[in-house]
Amino acid sequence: MRVAIAVLAGLLILWIGAAVVRSIARMRPREEAEPEDVQDLDVFFVCGDCGTEFRVERIGELQIPRHCGEPMRVERRPRPPVTTQN
Ligand SMILES: [Zn+2]
Repeated sequence: MRVAIAVLAGLLILWIGAAVVRSIARMRPREEAEPEDVQDLDVFFVCGDCGTEFRVERIGELQIPRHCGEPMRVERRPRPPVTTQN
């Protein structure tokens, strides 16, 4: 009898654990789909062949574009401080 209760308690814990994991797994993809705002960190796609640069404002699903037949380099550069007084 005691064994049956232990098994039932174990199953209940597993069931609750699975439900929690499932609810977390359901929430995750929505967070990842949110585009990452990278405007504070200047991100550029740079073509190593001809030097063309694309500035990235927002990163959604990251796909590196190609230029001159080669995938472009991703460079993160610190944004220069904005000076309003001059
Ligand atoms: Zn190029």
